[in-house]
Amino acid sequence: MEPSLKDTVADRVQQVLSNIRRAADRAGRSVQHIRLVAVTKTVTVDRIQQGIDAGLSILGESRLQEAASKIDVLKQAPVRWHFIGHLQRRKVRSVIGLFDLIHSVDSIALGLDLNRCTGALGRLQDILLEVNVANESTKGGFRIEDIIDAAPVIGMLPHIRIKGLMAIPPPWTHAEQSRPYFRRLKELGLRLRDLNLPGVEMDELSMGMSQDYEVAIEEGATLVRVGTAIFGARDV
Ligand SMILES: *Cc1c(COP(=O)(O)O)cnc(C)c1O
Repeated sequence: MEPSLKDTVADRVQQVLSNIRRAADRAGRSVQHIRLVAVTKTVTVDRIQQGIDAGLSILGESRLQEAASKIDVLKQAPVRWHFIGHLQRRKVRSVIGLFDLIHSVDSIALGLDLNRCTGALGRLQDILLEVNVANESTKGGFRIEDIIDAAPVIGMLPHIRIKGLMAIPPPWTHAEQSRPYFRRLKELGLRLRDLNLPGVEMDELSMGMSQDYEVAIEEGATLVRVGTAIFGARDV
């Protein structure tokens, strides 16, 4: 289903959920293994609430300050929050306790900082390792050749648990162009899983955004991060 301008947030949530179901069917996968992370950066609390009323249950934010204030305002809402943006090491302390999952751990140093801060608060933080699947010089994330060495080091840290991998392929005109990168992330996850590393579970693949989440599901995504297709284009 293609969105039209008259559609409400609730209409779009239903469209995206139905597209997710159809992509899962095409791939012969159970839709229960695919979770929608609705990306709410720059979206007003009012519109986020419309999305929650329409059934969204996981919200993703990429800017820490904005996220913290929304989490506070919406603290009664039956939703979980994920952090999906670049996390600066000096901000690590403020991230603890707010998010069920941090998708974007992109260096060993950040892993060490997270472990220290979560440990100090007596918590356990679930994370994904972000992979720079296209080896773009402008983008963060582990290089494919580095992650095999980094995963065991981060996995050994007692206060964080690696649940899987995340990637943001380059922005394309056609969703199909992302497919090889999604496939690459999936293969990397399987390789890491075969290593049976302590503290490394590898059950989650966070891949696919508004333009290519259906292709990502066909290639094995368990978490799709969708903003524009639900809330409309962002000004900033
Ligand atoms: C903004 C953002 C998204 C959502 O992008 P859309 O194209 O609006 O769906 C997904 N992942 C990350 C990391 C983002 O920053």
